[in-house]
Amino acid sequence: MHEFHSTFYAQEVIFGAGAVSGLREAVDRFGWQRLLLCTSRSLRQNGHAGRIESALDERHVATFERVLPHVPEAQVAEALALADEQRVDALVALGGGSAIGLAKALSLALERPRTDTTARDPLPTDQPKVPVVAIPTTYAGSEMTPVYGVTRDEPGAARKVTVTDPKVAPKLIIYDPALTLDLAPAVTAATGINALAHCIEALYSVTRNPLSSAAAREGVRHIARALPRCYAVGDDLEARTEMLVGAYLAGTALATVAMGLHHGLCHVLGGTAGVAHGVANSIMLPHAMRFNLDATAPQLALAAQAMGIMSDDPHAAAEEAIQRVYSLVGQLGLPQRLRDVGVAEADLPGLAQLALRSRAVQANPRPITDAAQVEAVLRAAW
Ligand code: NAD
Repeated sequence: MHEFHSTFYAQEVIFGAGAVSGLREAVDRFGWQRLLLCTSRSLRQNGHAGRIESALDERHVATFERVLPHVPEAQVAEALALADEQRVDALVALGGGSAIGLAKALSLALERPRTDTTARDPLPTDQPKVPVVAIPTTYAGSEMTPVYGVTRDEPGAARKVTVTDPKVAPKLIIYDPALTLDLAPAVTAATGINALAHCIEALYSVTRNPLSSAAAREGVRHIARALPRCYAVGDDLEARTEMLVGAYLAGTALATVAMGLHHGLCHVLGGTAGVAHGVANSIMLPHAMRFNLDATAPQLALAAQAMGIMSDDPHAAAEEAIQRVYSLVGQLGLPQRLRDVGVAEADLPGLAQLALRSRAVQANPRPITDAAQVEAVLRAAW
């Protein structure tokens, strides 16, 4: 690769077991006074939400703890009313991609009434009025990116749409592996495969750059080694730490490149067919890799190498990597067919049509011009 164009965002990352104890000091340093916590019930039940509220102390003004998967638009409106009423100046997202996605959507919604600048394409140096602090507790990677998805109830079917704005890229990210020790095996597995998928799609992305490729390779290496250990023994702090490093690298790669077919399909399967994001990832990843095999064998071979597959033939290495991913998904007890997660065969043509409209599908390294190509991939996974 001899040409590239990449954008990075001003973000402070604090990583380490117990890192969350540094939250209050960081909030003071940034000067935020009135913070809203966005989280979900499971994080209330396991005590992590309470820990964050105590750490924020009087700076914590409210908690929205009914975060739902895929960020339904109605929920953004509900949380926005609370954020407005409390005149918040920063949002703390504790949880997976859903909590972080909701906080990003709120950040942008709160921005609009507080700025009088005319509409234009945002620049990477634009700073938010109401920034997001992300404390990720899954491996989905949203904490590093300037993107979020919301699900709109459109006539006939719900549709997940993505919004990109540098202002929503979280300004402070605290990775604390101790918060992931009680992440259930199924969520560990599914969001871990999501992180692996980010690395693989970053490696063959049409907009890859030297840093995204380096992060993605290293991400694959850590994830391939740590994910089975985290699944087998959830409270293995060393494995959880390595897995979170992998997720950080995956998120870093994801933040700077265009994704492809795999990502576009997972959004449609989530927003329209209601499949959990990580589960959609687990089913689709080997199929998307196979679809791209001939066009991207050298890049897939880099993923293979990071998994410990040694071969001088890139095509053979890539082929083995696809098998390895498929076996890993099975070993982690994740579903491997769309029919097993409630997707009806009759829905495949409609899902393919929707996916064809996605920016990610349009940016796939092997060009996709026809819904039939997408439908064939969905059928193979059905
Ligand atoms: P999620 O956020 O929906 O979380 C899954 C479940 O795990 C939830 O029930 C949550 O309460 C629970 N949970 C999370 N952490 C826990 C913990 N430590 N202990 C116990 N339970 C815990 O799922 P996800 O896969 O993390 O995120 C998926 C969403 O994120 C999708 O909407 C996806 O589109 C989006 N996403 C966005 C990006 C981006 O760059 N914008 C990247 C990846 C995913």
